[in-house]
Amino acid sequence: MTEPDMTELRAIRADITTLDVDAIVNAANPSLLGGGGVDGAIHRAAGPELLRECAQAGGCPTGDARLTRGYRLQARYVIHAVGPVWSGGRHGEHGLLASCYRRSLELASATGLQRIAFPSISTGVYGYPIQQAARIAVTTVRLELARLTGIDEVTFCCFSEQDLAVYEAELARGA
Ligand code: ADP
Repeated sequence: MTEPDMTELRAIRADITTLDVDAIVNAANPSLLGGGGVDGAIHRAAGPELLRECAQAGGCPTGDARLTRGYRLQARYVIHAVGPVWSGGRHGEHGLLASCYRRSLELASATGLQRIAFPSISTGVYGYPIQQAARIAVTTVRLELARLTGIDEVTFCCFSEQDLAVYEAELARGA
């Protein structure tokens, strides 16, 4: 499968809080009130105003996403996506994880954002197996880019070399 015209899909190893894109996606929890992992790093880098805006949002169901400003981040916006906790794979995890990527891209497209970066949602504390999660991430993003307009770069931002290798293999697989 070829990538939709003009949209670049890439995987890099980086701290997502440092990326100069229109929006970074946060692997949030349903309260949207911050947590550990990438969530904690994003709140630390964005500053206390982010928590204030998140508190006003009143939470977010698993599989959905909410958009806030990025405050002190280079990224203008943060899309807070709530991934599923892995509980063996038979509790709707696949659909909920795919929904995180879909909803995030829908919000980005509706807001006119062009460059988006995702962390590997649910694969830290939430325990989703990286191989399966990466396949869902890449497959869903490809599918959504074929129907949404305006997004011209999607970055999968991995935190470890091992995760990066998994994402690169997934990207090569469908290319
Ligand atoms: P979840 O609760 O959804 O599993 P985590 O934050 O625990 O969320 O982990 C999600 C992924 O984000 C993991 O792959 C983790 O290694 C990665 N991660 C943690 N900190 C950062 C960061 N600063 N930048 C990019 N990825 C990060």
